[in-house]
Amino acid sequence: MSTGKINVQTENIFPIIKKFLYSDHEIFLRELVSNAVDASQKLKTLVSIGESNANLDKLQVEVAIDKKAKTLTIKDNGIGMTGEEIEKYITQIAFSGAEEFVNKYKDKAAEANAIIGHFGLGFYSAFMVAKKVEIFSLSHKEGAVAVRWECDGSPDYKLEETTKAGRGTDIVLHIADDSEEFLEEYRISELLKKYCKFLPVQIKFGTKKETQKVGKEGKEKDKEVEVDNIINNPTPAWTKKPADLTDEDYKNFYRELYPMNFEDPLFHIHLNVDYPFNLTGILYFPKLKRSFEIQKDKIQLYCNQVFVTDSVENIVPDFLGLLQGVIDSPDIPLNVSRSYLQSDSNVKKISAHITKKVADKLEEIFKNDRKDFEAKWEDIKIFVQYGMLSEEKFYDKAQKFALLKSTDGNYSTLEEYAEKVKPIQTDKDKKVIYLYTTNVDEQHSFIETAKERGYDVLVTDSPIDAHYINHLEQKLENTSFVRVDADTIDKIIKKDEAQPSKLSDKEQETLKPIIESIVPKEKFSVVFESLSEKDAPMIITKPEFMRRMKDMSAMGGGGMSFYGSLPDMHNLVVNSNHPLISKILNEKDADKQKQLAKQTADLAMLSQGLLKGEELTKFIKRSVELID
Ligand code: ADP
Repeated sequence: MSTGKINVQTENIFPIIKKFLYSDHEIFLRELVSNAVDASQKLKTLVSIGESNANLDKLQVEVAIDKKAKTLTIKDNGIGMTGEEIEKYITQIAFSGAEEFVNKYKDKAAEANAIIGHFGLGFYSAFMVAKKVEIFSLSHKEGAVAVRWECDGSPDYKLEETTKAGRGTDIVLHIADDSEEFLEEYRISELLKKYCKFLPVQIKFGTKKETQKVGKEGKEKDKEVEVDNIINNPTPAWTKKPADLTDEDYKNFYRELYPMNFEDPLFHIHLNVDYPFNLTGILYFPKLKRSFEIQKDKIQLYCNQVFVTDSVENIVPDFLGLLQGVIDSPDIPLNVSRSYLQSDSNVKKISAHITKKVADKLEEIFKNDRKDFEAKWEDIKIFVQYGMLSEEKFYDKAQKFALLKSTDGNYSTLEEYAEKVKPIQTDKDKKVIYLYTTNVDEQHSFIETAKERGYDVLVTDSPIDAHYINHLEQKLENTSFVRVDADTIDKIIKKDEAQPSKLSDKEQETLKPIIESIVPKEKFSVVFESLSEKDAPMIITKPEFMRRMKDMSAMGGGGMSFYGSLPDMHNLVVNSNHPLISKILNEKDADKQKQLAKQTADLAMLSQGLLKGEELTKFIKRSVELID
């Protein structure tokens, strides 16, 4: 037996480890199980290059709780360690790693908390939950002697020869009094599911009952048998070749990832890069809910099949945060703070690559199966628009497949749309104007009028459409979008040969104050327009600029809150060619004149859903009287 002093300058490193990693104590299990998996993989490698002839049957890691002895054991049958190796790897190298960590972070609690992963702290994270740790190990090397190492968290340790049945290492944690949660089966099970679900070596945690068919053919019986409880899938879909996977396999893997999500994803993207960085993974397009509800099934980040985190905000662009699935990369630095991560060149490359892949996949579906793409469009539209708004590169690619929907239900790309529809082109500045509606029902009469004149109307009703349209206007030259009720259609198309007005300027001046007196002044400005006799006598329009600014401020557009505080502003357009307007003008009885004007204005408001409450009640009463 030998004793020794661990070679560290910092006395009592463990209280510090404990204190600084408080919120993340649970990661000790990930660290120790990963070490055990590594030890198994290393042995596999040695066998494959002919440096060992160890028997690899039943290579597995086992996690076991002994409640009585208050121990948690992580056991592997991997390469094992000789006494010398324990001295070297555990007491010298690993300890110096832990010491470095502590020295770096002891004055920076905040930063320590912001660290993702804590990889590299490794073995010594055991002391976050254990008051004493024992290692029993038998190296795979021929003639090796089993050894036992023990340490209670002080820099003193013990190392002695022992006997051990098989090759490999048992790490025995004597769980500290304040960490007894880690002696509970459900807790360990939960942690194994979280961190170890896809580790590449079989991991056993206790046993479970399973019904199996036994007996002769034709006479089988169900029998309950006890089998090893294997908690992981060592070969998850993302580690396989896309050619070896069917659509069903991808869907099954989605269910494996998110067992509580019962909806199938729309489609998947299999990532596989080995230059200039290593990255594999599968991303899924979920069916997005209309509202931006917080998604709980997020992208999970793995490092060589070890779960690291599902906060990938700084690794993938925001808009890709709406996706789900797995990214596995050993090249994402895990030991650094988030602000550093954003400026890391590998992370930037990874982010750009994923963005490109996603755009490529969308384009591929668009090109190969337009029908399918259109069927999915309503579900992926928010995502695509969000991407186009936030990433220049994504915009460039996505404009080829981003769709516009017309009120007749047809979809077209920007380019197709420009070719297809009758343009509203103003002579003066050669601008092309497209009409859109944000609510097919509310703006119905305007849509009908536009269609009668031969113009198409786009449906833009997703929450970010206002921003999207704004963005398109900035990107496309000489193109603007105008909501179909922003003005009368004649005004929008700036018809040169306006109809001659039946009302003279003087007559208009007489009528204007009468109409103004029947609508709230702060909300409506009365304008005369010489429209067709067939158009309505009065029409309410919502000027584009103000309305759009208000919409955007409601969505939280930066710097727009000023507009949000303004009242809704409408135009009450009076059709000077409508016979009813002449009738109002010529009515000699002042009361009756007002009543007629009010009734006509109310009709216009009613068609825009603006007539409510008391005004609506009065209107109905008046209508009944008029019918009488
Ligand atoms: P890291 O895994 O980052 O190298 P650790 O502190 O976790 O750091 O482990 C230090 C070293 O101890 C490992 O690199 C490995 O050589 C050795 N080691 C740890 N656990 C085992 C194990 N279960 N079997 C064999 N070797 C191990």
